[in-house]
Amino acid sequence: MFDFHMHSSISFDSETSSIDMAQAALQAGLREICFTDHYDCHWEKEDTHDFFTLDDYRAAYEGLSVPGLIIRRGVEMGLTHWNRGIAEALTHAYPFDFVIGSLHYVDGYDPYEPQYWDGKTMHRAYERYLEETLRCVRIHDDFDVLGHLTYVCKSPHNPYHLPVFYEDFADLTDDILRELVKKGKGMEINTSGIDRVGDFLPTARHLQRFYELGGRIVTVGSDTHNTNRVGQYTDRALDVLKDIFGHVCTFAQRTPTFHRL
Ligand SMILES: [Zn+2]
Ligand SMILES: [Zn+2]
Repeated sequence: MFDFHMHSSISFDSETSSIDMAQAALQAGLREICFTDHYDCHWEKEDTHDFFTLDDYRAAYEGLSVPGLIIRRGVEMGLTHWNRGIAEALTHAYPFDFVIGSLHYVDGYDPYEPQYWDGKTMHRAYERYLEETLRCVRIHDDFDVLGHLTYVCKSPHNPYHLPVFYEDFADLTDDILRELVKKGKGMEINTSGIDRVGDFLPTARHLQRFYELGGRIVTVGSDTHNTNRVGQYTDRALDVLKDIFGHVCTFAQRTPTFHRL
């Protein structure tokens, strides 16, 4: 029904055009989608940011139309502890419908790089990612939902191939969730973990805890970078959200709409 985390070739790591992605979404039976392209900063590697230009972004999306499909325009902002100014400059420069705040770089490395895992146990690798997440959600205000809270586990270089379990980091996770609730921010259920670690990012337990702490804004996204995964497992994710929240959100002009499930 919805996919609010999709990349096209506007992102550095996708080669699929926006029109191909949108047509795949219609064929997958989706009703409303949002493109959320990467805008990432690499710590200590300032000359290698993964930015798009607004000229390219406009060219890809502003004329894009597929009858029967609602298409929103968003961004997946890579949060670091030092890039708040960069993030806010972008969202002030373009009227995005939706901003996902995501952590991809911790201590200078993406968990997708093998160096991230050097010298770390699984516990420390997961904990360090969550520590930095807490730091960033305290610093940043200009995002709508926190993307893939447990992204760290889905890396192909993760030697352990296990989800991040709530109970293993309960206090740290609660601090993150409370900060999101306090700021009026939401969470996403990201389906890209199913084929990597056998669970959503984050798990239903994390989302249940978010609800218990007062969180109500929640979106669903496949995080697809090609036409094969558009909307993948989003039906299963909506079943999870139905049980916990009774609704799922979409966004337009940075404002959530609640859809009863
Ligand atoms: Zn991401
Ligand atoms: Zn993504």
